[in-house]
Amino acid sequence: MTIEEKAEVMSGLKLPISLEFFPPKTPEGAEKLRGVRQQLYGLKPEFCSVTYGAGGSTQEGTFATVGAILKEGVAAASHFSCIGATKSSVREELATLKGMGVKRLVALRGDLPSGYGAGGEFHYASDLVAFIRAETGDDFHIEVAAYPEIHPQAKSPEADLQAFVAKVKAGANSAITQYFYNSDAYFRFVDDAYKLGVDVPIVPGIMPITSSSQLLRFSDACGAEIPRWIRLRLQAYGDDTTSIKAFGLDVVADLCEQLINGGVPALHFYTMNQSAPTTDILNRL
Ligand code: FAD
Repeated sequence: MTIEEKAEVMSGLKLPISLEFFPPKTPEGAEKLRGVRQQLYGLKPEFCSVTYGAGGSTQEGTFATVGAILKEGVAAASHFSCIGATKSSVREELATLKGMGVKRLVALRGDLPSGYGAGGEFHYASDLVAFIRAETGDDFHIEVAAYPEIHPQAKSPEADLQAFVAKVKAGANSAITQYFYNSDAYFRFVDDAYKLGVDVPIVPGIMPITSSSQLLRFSDACGAEIPRWIRLRLQAYGDDTTSIKAFGLDVVADLCEQLINGGVPALHFYTMNQSAPTTDILNRL
């Protein structure tokens, strides 16, 4: 099946997809990402988002990549984090994004790189969402982050859920989750949030599995659990990347199938700036 035929099948399922990239660090990286985007545009994503480095460290690259996507005629969302920022710096950046024609933001608290003091005029993502709404009305569609397996710094699962509800009540239009490999955690989170009055789409974030050590290391820090059976299988493959990719594809395609059968509103793919991991999963569905 060609990528265009795949896009037709997904639109027949009425399942929008969105794609996430990170800003490349070098001109060669930017060129490579341009090619990856062209391949993935065949999937007709609803939008493509670009991450924003801790404490605004990649702001230039983020905005440049967002600008490039918009010029390619595709809707782009800029991730935007507020930790360490002042109201006047956020106001300026919002004006820049608006001037570029950006209509969608992923509003985050973010994490400061170690060694930086907290400072800044924003404490939580809910403060940023409220500020964006107060300053710019309905100019932006605002996405926020959700954690079906609970944010690592949360005081309790209940407090984390309340923090999510607060972000939505502050004016978020939709949410994207941290990745997970246990669909029960997602469905329970959605049920609990809806019981508390949340009525916006909560879109699962899908992380393809293509390598072992990187995923295991990263997941510990970001509030995503790798189930024991997956962790042990990945560790047992050692350096055998072919087996890791084949196993990862099985696991993540199964997960997407469970999510689609459960009625998710869309799928958001963490592409890792590569086309194959995402298209391989969609080809399997
Ligand atoms: P918040 O929603 O503010 O929550 C942070 C913590 O504070 C949670 O533990 C929450 O329970 C707690 N909390 C919230 N409100 C309150 C309150 N009123 N009182 C007490 N506690 C409270 N990071 C980046 O640096 N760049 C990115 O581009 C990026 N993109 C992401 C995209 C998605 C979809 C996701 C899921 C995460 C992303 N992250 C990104 C990671 C994110 O920045 C971190 O997880 C960060 O630690 C939390 O950001 P947040 O917006 O979820 O914070």
